[in-house]
Amino acid sequence: MSEYEAFQTPKGVHDILPDDHQYHTYIKKVIRHRARQAGFKRITTPIFEYAELFKRSLGGGSDVVKKEMFEFKDKKGRNLCLKPEGTAGVVRAYIENGMNQLPRPVQLYYIEPHFRYDRPQKGRYRQFWQYGFEVLGESDPALDAQLINLAHKIHEDLRIDDVFALQLNTIGTIDSRKAYAQALEDFYVGKERSVPPEFRDLIYSNPMRLLDQKDEDLQILAELAPSMKDYLDKESIEYHEEVKEYLDELGIEYIENDKLVRGLDYYSKTVFEFWDKHDGAQNAVGGGGRYDGLVEFLGGQPTPAVGYASGIERIIANMKKHKVRVPAKDNLHIFVAQLGKAAKKKCLPLIDKLRDAGLKTMGAVGKGSINEQLRLANKFEVPYTVLMGLTEVREGTAIIRDMERGEQETVDIEDVVERLVELIGEEDLDKYSPSELLYS
Ligand code: AMP
Repeated sequence: MSEYEAFQTPKGVHDILPDDHQYHTYIKKVIRHRARQAGFKRITTPIFEYAELFKRSLGGGSDVVKKEMFEFKDKKGRNLCLKPEGTAGVVRAYIENGMNQLPRPVQLYYIEPHFRYDRPQKGRYRQFWQYGFEVLGESDPALDAQLINLAHKIHEDLRIDDVFALQLNTIGTIDSRKAYAQALEDFYVGKERSVPPEFRDLIYSNPMRLLDQKDEDLQILAELAPSMKDYLDKESIEYHEEVKEYLDELGIEYIENDKLVRGLDYYSKTVFEFWDKHDGAQNAVGGGGRYDGLVEFLGGQPTPAVGYASGIERIIANMKKHKVRVPAKDNLHIFVAQLGKAAKKKCLPLIDKLRDAGLKTMGAVGKGSINEQLRLANKFEVPYTVLMGLTEVREGTAIIRDMERGEQETVDIEDVVERLVELIGEEDLDKYSPSELLYS
């Protein structure tokens, strides 16, 4: 049998089935509200970009560029890549569309699928959803603190804030970071034998990454390694102190973690991650930091910036683990059962009116007996069924059946919608009025 005969999803990706979509919908709603309240505007960049954009932005030493890019060639041989993260594309769009002309800071957010050729495991997929915020054009510790606060607020709204601990660090300006990276390289050179083979190339390509690995030998070495603190310049130290003052003012707790480096080349000064209180970095829900050099590095004007990105699958997993339930918006209100062609004809416009009134309605397709259709209505778990047969057509009525109590009432066909709206309750309706949404 060919490997394609019984189709399955490719390794590491999954369908979002209707139950999980209720979480996605709710989470997106929270993000959209919080983003709008804080003056962020939504941006969507393409699913694929030139691979070089990510290679330049994230740096050749990053895990993402080394191992995790979904790279491919188009028919003209151009090197493309499914986006592994959001910031590089947003910065490219900012430069390409002259967004530096906009009032600053320019605040953008996205909710998008991303792709990494990761080793699939719990909480780690090859296609996953991230939301993220980017604040471009200003450098101020208050912006870093406000961004962290926004992420924290979203966690609160989703009732998962207790699950995560904010880890905070500064990796200094680009110059102080370079000096520190050199000091680390000097420290690890000569100790290669204590560094597991799979990490050895990091000594030269990205020595800071040796600090935040789970490997025990590396953790012991990291304790002995020079500390970033000794390499920070005055500007970085003062900036960091101010970020912490503002976080204190906002009442946000943080853990100072001088081993937190984030793996990507573009970060400078503030870096932070929200770690699972039990599993640590392994199940981080999100992370971010300041990236003052990136816009210029990609060909734009010098533009300071700070950003944050978070994984939606991990949010959902935590909401489920902690029994946070979301509104079941897809639940049906009404099933319409009918017997005979004449009744079916009357049912179609009735269903239309029920739906327009905000009642979620299905039915009028069954060919079976009324009892069979009622059994089906039960399976759809509707609270009410409308029944119509020849007698009702003749008398201009319909029967409304309360499915839980098994009680029925006969109402005039003209009053069916109103009666059902009353029974379901205005607050439960799925109302949609396009004309009200538009400005005239
Ligand atoms: P990063 O920028 O790599 O720290 O990613 C930010 C967040 O995105 C992580 O904290 C995760 O919540 C999520 N994330 C990253 N990679 C994956 C993945 N392969 N599968 C699922 N979620 C991911």
